Amino acid sequence: MVVGILGGGQLARMLALAGHPLGIRCVVLDPADDACSAPVARHLHGAFDDRVLLDELADSVDVITYEFENVSLESLRYLSSRVPVYPPVAALEATQDRLDEKNLFRELGIETPDFLPVSSQEELESAVGRIGLPSVLKTRRMGYDGKGQIVLKEAADVAGAWEQLGGVPAILEAFVPFDREVSGIVVRSIEGEISAWSLTENIHADGILKLATSKPHDPVKPIALDFATRLLEHLDYVGVLALECFQIGDRLLANEFAPRVHNSGHWTIEGAETSQFENHLRAVAGVVPGSTEPLGHSVMLNCIGEMPPLASVMRIRGAHMHDYAKEPRSGRKVGHITVRTADADYLRQVTADLCDLQKSGCR
Ligand code: AMP
Repeated sequence: MVVGILGGGQLARMLALAGHPLGIRCVVLDPADDACSAPVARHLHGAFDDRVLLDELADSVDVITYEFENVSLESLRYLSSRVPVYPPVAALEATQDRLDEKNLFRELGIETPDFLPVSSQEELESAVGRIGLPSVLKTRRMGYDGKGQIVLKEAADVAGAWEQLGGVPAILEAFVPFDREVSGIVVRSIEGEISAWSLTENIHADGILKLATSKPHDPVKPIALDFATRLLEHLDYVGVLALECFQIGDRLLANEFAPRVHNSGHWTIEGAETSQFENHLRAVAGVVPGSTEPLGHSVMLNCIGEMPPLASVMRIRGAHMHDYAKEPRSGRKVGHITVRTADADYLRQVTADLCDLQKSGCR
């Protein structure tokens, strides 16, 4: 079995690593010279819309998947005329535009923050009149890791804000004073069987995920699973899906979903019977996914900018290091560290030790 992946970053690297013991090989397509999955997968080096390379990819694989949202739909549609593509192209299409995504949530009865489309400064002012302040103005397309958004706190922030965001189609969302951010990571097989990992609690800083903690038996997991199930069934989805939500009181409001393996699910490599990477490959390959049961408690720290020294990581009892072998660069995700433990008290203590490794801290 050979799986083609559009994108050759760390998600493709971890997919390929999960595939090796199963005898599943991966071929990645990526324009970067130093794609970090290249050491563990065959690398087709070039643009995502290069028809010659797309043909070579389609000829070399049994099924195609993708590891990031901004893949061209045209390329994916072209590939899907030649070879099965999972998750379905419609899932990717919905996530490429924040307005379509929020409208889909609404159509499926998935609660979201209030939102309105905005395509001029005038529309922004009228939307602020209806939604109120504080609120968040986000570009409809190409936003990730907190990029392409402005928080509007007071009336003075509204003047010129649409221009400041680039004068592109946008949405205005109510700012949610959330108690915490959580994500539900789920997998659906070709036969339509759904399983969910433990809910993950996420801490972001500067729009980037810093810390993800697994929450076995979390009381709001059934809400996240219900929301995710509506999406999976509506889209006739195959593979792993991540749904990011804000929790406020005992309610969840969906923020966005990712039609792929997700950073907040990296702890599943050590912290679950089967990781999100293995199960994504199994699902798209048409093989039954494995158990998503947790193995104790887990916490994952993202390494942003540069990796901490191996020796300092290994001094932490139970630490598992994942160095993506990327060049250090400010704001870049270069690796992660997971600790899994049966002891909830140790988890609290080790979370503080992990945060100390990261110069910019976790909060
Ligand atoms: P996003 O690009 O939509 O995932 O947003 C990145 C981060 O910005 C989220 O993880 C939140 O921490 C914050 N954020 C985004 N939208 C809102 C909102 N409507 N209310 C409060 N915080 C938000």
